[in-house]
Amino acid sequence: MTLYYSRTGSIGRHATHRVAPGSVRRWSQMRVGKGEPVRDWLQPWTRFDMHRVLFLVRVVVWIGAGFFAFGSPEDGWVWVGAAIALGGGAVAVRVWDYSTWNRAAIGLDVVAITLAVRFSGGVAGDTWVLYGGEALALTAYGSLRWTAIGSAVMIAAFAVAAWPHTATAAFAFEAALLAVFILSAGMLGRGFVLQQQHVREDRRRLMQLDNLRVIQENLLREAPLEVLLQNLLRQGLQLVGLDYGYIGLPVAHGQMQMVSQLGFPERGSNRAWDIATSEPTATAVRVGDLVVHNAVAAAGLDELHLEGFGSVAITPLYDGRALLGVLAVGSPEPDMITAEVAPLVTALGTLAAGQIRYDRERAESRKRGRLLTTLERVGRLMNSNLQMKLLLPTLHQTVAEELQIDSFVVMLTIPHDPGQVYMAYLFDDGKRYPSEVLPLPDPGPTADVIRSGEARRFEGVPSGAGTIGSSREVVGMLVAPLRHESRVIGAISAQSYRGTYDQDHLDFLSAVASQAAIAIENAQLYQQTEEIALTDHMTGLGNSRRFQAALGQMLEQADAEEHPLALLMIDSDSLKRVNDQHGHKAGDAHILQLAHAISGNVRNGDVACRYAGDEFVVILPETPLAAAERVGERIRQAVAEGFVWEDGAHVATSVSVGVAPYLNGMTMEGLFSRADQAMYRAKQGGRNQVMVIQ
Ligand code: GH3
Ligand code: MG
Repeated sequence: MTLYYSRTGSIGRHATHRVAPGSVRRWSQMRVGKGEPVRDWLQPWTRFDMHRVLFLVRVVVWIGAGFFAFGSPEDGWVWVGAAIALGGGAVAVRVWDYSTWNRAAIGLDVVAITLAVRFSGGVAGDTWVLYGGEALALTAYGSLRWTAIGSAVMIAAFAVAAWPHTATAAFAFEAALLAVFILSAGMLGRGFVLQQQHVREDRRRLMQLDNLRVIQENLLREAPLEVLLQNLLRQGLQLVGLDYGYIGLPVAHGQMQMVSQLGFPERGSNRAWDIATSEPTATAVRVGDLVVHNAVAAAGLDELHLEGFGSVAITPLYDGRALLGVLAVGSPEPDMITAEVAPLVTALGTLAAGQIRYDRERAESRKRGRLLTTLERVGRLMNSNLQMKLLLPTLHQTVAEELQIDSFVVMLTIPHDPGQVYMAYLFDDGKRYPSEVLPLPDPGPTADVIRSGEARRFEGVPSGAGTIGSSREVVGMLVAPLRHESRVIGAISAQSYRGTYDQDHLDFLSAVASQAAIAIENAQLYQQTEEIALTDHMTGLGNSRRFQAALGQMLEQADAEEHPLALLMIDSDSLKRVNDQHGHKAGDAHILQLAHAISGNVRNGDVACRYAGDEFVVILPETPLAAAERVGERIRQAVAEGFVWEDGAHVATSVSVGVAPYLNGMTMEGLFSRADQAMYRAKQGGRNQVMVIQ
């Protein structure tokens, strides 16, 4: 019971561990008299110390004295006297306490003993035993000086009681004997009391240490920091025997915010205050040590005074030079921060600081773990999704798992053109935008990052920023360079319309960017390789593979959009002759002449390929048959002009062109063979002509 709660500061180790919390609460909530908890009311009778023992001895002596003074136990007055002595003592102990009551009783005793001996003519020799007993009692309450003074008073009282009943010599002898007896009784008593105090002190210190250890053990549990700090505060207040307490942690803008508070009114919860100007926080933080105010009102600490503090002790929580927070304990009463409380508060502060530091380190290492996982994923991307088409959305998704982003952009530099960038990816406010080449504002955030190779963080819209995508205003922005070896090949940017980013976010994006740069570089190389694989070396047009791939895609598109599409099949009429008459080099020149004639007469979206040897195909999307025929005719005319060969001879050339429209339900092979058929008919019809097949 006392272990759960006591004024001397033990805390509820046993109560919390062995007694169900519910039952402890019910017990402590039972109240008597003026609303005092039963536990407190009973307390004076349940602890055994010197004062209690003396009080009981005194009551017994009084009953004994009453017994001898008034007669036999059958005499009702004896019991009345005993009842008054017990009842009076009990009441006095409730009103005062043992030590005050016993102190008052000593004076009463000395007067009563003296008067009783004087007027009853009792035995003065026995009286000094009682005086010795009182001297012993005195030592329990005061210093040796008080014992000496009290003893002198008792010797004087003895003189009053005994003089002149005894002969002078006998009296002098007895008085001297009494003095020696009283003083040695006092010394003996004093030694005993001191020893008792030491034992009690040692026990209390051990208990405090044990309680501190329990508090520390409780901190090792897995729980959020706020919960652990709240527990620490609650148990800490029990340890120091105080009612009010709070823990504040530094937040932004030089402020301290309460994360945990106990005892004082609600008004204090979540309160934030300035570290530099609010007392006693400012002093504690500056001095780096415990600050104690035992008279809060007089010290002018208005805020604390309003919150109900009469006395307060505040200790700063430091990790080296980094301020982690403050811990304060106090009481509505003044003068409650005793010399004994102060070191305990410092110890609690050390525990709290350790916990906050531990929590931070754990959060930090978790963050690093997550970062490593993400980086590892980006690293894997590098080896798998080689196509930019897949790489960039995956990169976006990976970053979005870690950062709150509304807009994600990948800009790639264009070699030899610093004034422009290729926006390879833009996802903004829930929408994907098509890639395009954009002017690069310089100075501007992206240009700065690309030029310096340094990541940058912005709050609000940075000056010089170009705007693309949604019209919402950017609140936080990160830009990190895509750096591969010593080259910066672009930049990625994460942006938020809702909040700002911190340095950790920037570090994260930079780390991702340096991984992504390798992946993007690889993807670009891959695209270049693929481009090479789909190109006809001699003419620079597409080859048959490009034709196959493009035709499949374009037929799908034509079906989806219900657009017309036509296919031209072009075959030289003259290659064999040119080869034979002017040599193979001239034949090659003829093929190039054909390629020029074709690419000079088709639009941007058309796909022209050298299918094989002197056979070319052109896919004309969104082109009706008549228009396709005109294209074929222009090509035919261009080739029909012939060309001048190296030897100065004019080489006559011509082509036959077949045109076929794409009709619903046709396969790629079907369309191809119809264009081939048309071309074949043109050959049959005498060559150098365009033949259309319906
Ligand atoms: P037509 O198509 O109307 O029958 O007449 P043509 O003269 O074009 O005859 P054909 O298409 O059959 O001739 C193709 C010849 O061209 C066969 C091959 O030896 C030659 N040839 C194929 N590719 C090349 C090339 O890249 N360069 C040169 N110089 N000759 C090539
Ligand atoms: Mg031919």
